[in-house]
Amino acid sequence: MGYAAASFCNLTRIMSGTTPASSAAEPMASDIAARVEAELTRLLYRSAGFGLFSNFVLAILLATGQWSYFPASLTLGWLTVIIVLSVARLATNIAFARRARADAELPQWRLAFLIEVALAGAIWGVSAWLFMQSDSLLSRCLVIFVVAGLNAGAARSLASVPICYRAYVVLSLTPMVLSFLLMDEPGSWTLAGMTLTYAMFLLNTAKLHYTDLHTLYRLIYENDALVATLSEAKQRAEAANQAKSEFLATMSHEIRTPMNGVIGMLQLLGEAELPTEQAEHVALAGKSADTLLRLLNDILDLSRIESGKLEIEHIRFSPAQVVSEVVALLATRAQAKALPLHYYCSPDLPTHVRGDPMRLRQVLLNLVGNAVKFTDRGEVEVLVAPVNSGNEEAGICFRVRDTGIGMNPEALGRLFEKFSQADSSTTRRYGGSGLGLAISRGLVQHMGGDISVRSNPGQGSEFSFVLRLPAEAAIEYASLVAPSRSVGTAPRKFSARVLVIEDEESNQQVIDGLLRRVGIVPTIVSNGQEGIAYAVQHPWDLVFMDMRMPDIDGPQATRRIREQLPNQPLPIIALTANAREEDRLTCLDAGMDDFLTKPVRLEELRSCLHRWLGSSVSQEQ
Ligand code: ADP
Repeated sequence: MGYAAASFCNLTRIMSGTTPASSAAEPMASDIAARVEAELTRLLYRSAGFGLFSNFVLAILLATGQWSYFPASLTLGWLTVIIVLSVARLATNIAFARRARADAELPQWRLAFLIEVALAGAIWGVSAWLFMQSDSLLSRCLVIFVVAGLNAGAARSLASVPICYRAYVVLSLTPMVLSFLLMDEPGSWTLAGMTLTYAMFLLNTAKLHYTDLHTLYRLIYENDALVATLSEAKQRAEAANQAKSEFLATMSHEIRTPMNGVIGMLQLLGEAELPTEQAEHVALAGKSADTLLRLLNDILDLSRIESGKLEIEHIRFSPAQVVSEVVALLATRAQAKALPLHYYCSPDLPTHVRGDPMRLRQVLLNLVGNAVKFTDRGEVEVLVAPVNSGNEEAGICFRVRDTGIGMNPEALGRLFEKFSQADSSTTRRYGGSGLGLAISRGLVQHMGGDISVRSNPGQGSEFSFVLRLPAEAAIEYASLVAPSRSVGTAPRKFSARVLVIEDEESNQQVIDGLLRRVGIVPTIVSNGQEGIAYAVQHPWDLVFMDMRMPDIDGPQATRRIREQLPNQPLPIIALTANAREEDRLTCLDAGMDDFLTKPVRLEELRSCLHRWLGSSVSQEQ
């Protein structure tokens, strides 16, 4: 049970959320706020470029405009200071942009920016004070325009960090307001009032802009955090699903191995001459073992469907043949209840289509099996007819109708749920696990259709589904039915040299007993290494290969045998408790020819031997 325990631990660990995937810290609101602030600081630096450029240009224009009104030393002195500061700001900007800055460094950069922008504001403020002390209207207008323009432009570029803009506005406009107030000219107080109003207006615009930016970045980061949480949850769900499938596959393997012993031995006992009472006991034990195995297979199927790992085959088959086989299989059960079981295949039905006959058979077996089970009087009918067929695709409608107990609307509502039955009396009276319809619906959906149902209590039920399958051209009937006809049910004896590579002792006994039953005395080896040596050194007609062995596993052993015996058509058949589709593919990929799952049925074994040994080494008893 080592594998099972490990896989169970893995499953519970993931389900309880203690995996590394789940330990990532939940994104916190404060985290988001910090990231928003950091991004706004980066934006401050990113938007500063044009402001700096305007600074240079306007400083030169202003100095040129004031040249004839003020002493050259004063104008040049002011220009030098503002240009030196602008160059320093440019250098800071370049230093910031040189590499990506971590969030932790940003407060210092924000402070550096604030100091420099405050200095720039102060120097523009000084210029306003200085150049307002002129009698020339042009000189005063020039400085008013320049300072006003700079303030308006900065409202956008400095808005991402409000303190920077506030400092800039206060320091650059206060001297101008003061000079208006001290001017003692008509209208100068009005100008001071207008400047203040204008400053308030700009501050408010910048604040609104800041709020928009802040909201925008917060939404972006909240969205990012949400996406991260969702993808983490998705990963966790996928890991849990994967672990669940592995757990089921492992459990299935672990259960199949002892079941092989139980069913195998019961089959051998069943074929022996026993007193009537004991034979009845063996038959009952066999039936219970079969039920248990069916349940196991159902649960595996369901897990395959739910994990999306169900493989649908696309092979050529005759839909009418599948239906007739299903009806033939259930005929005895219907006869036992004296229940007529009819089927009708429309003559317009395509003779062959491409699809998965095994899965179709499984669905029909469930639907017709239920119809027979839940009907005591009247009849059960299976109708198959073409619908809306195109040139390349055949639409086929399968309909299973009965006159049985039917279902009420409430039972119909949860009909396809797992483990659901109409009511508890159904379980008591008819048995069943309530998985059949959930699986059938999953299978039909994987084949591109859906099951619909109509039912009335006491009047019967009708289940139907439509499959669209690529139509195939008809070929010779004889060549098509030959393989399935050859799977005879008459007891056959074979004479063949068969090697069995199997490590479990109880499994060895079962396969030995079953092979002896069909006339073969096998050679059994119990590990992969020895198996390879035996397979290569002696002549064999067929090899049965276990998949999971402690030293070399079955697929690996098969590869080695194929390498050492190139061009030899030795049939190697997997005989394994790993019943998943991917296990079958792994075996076929490794060079095996066929795949039998444990518990092995005598009939399956016979038909497999017949398939691979042919008539040359078999003889009728
Ligand atoms: P179960 O193995 O229990 O039959 P299913 O999934 O095949 O599981 O069916 C689930 C339940 O649906 C049955 O137990 C029965 O109550 C109801 N049901 C299915 N088919 C029929 C039918 N043809 N007539 C009446 N009831 C049905």
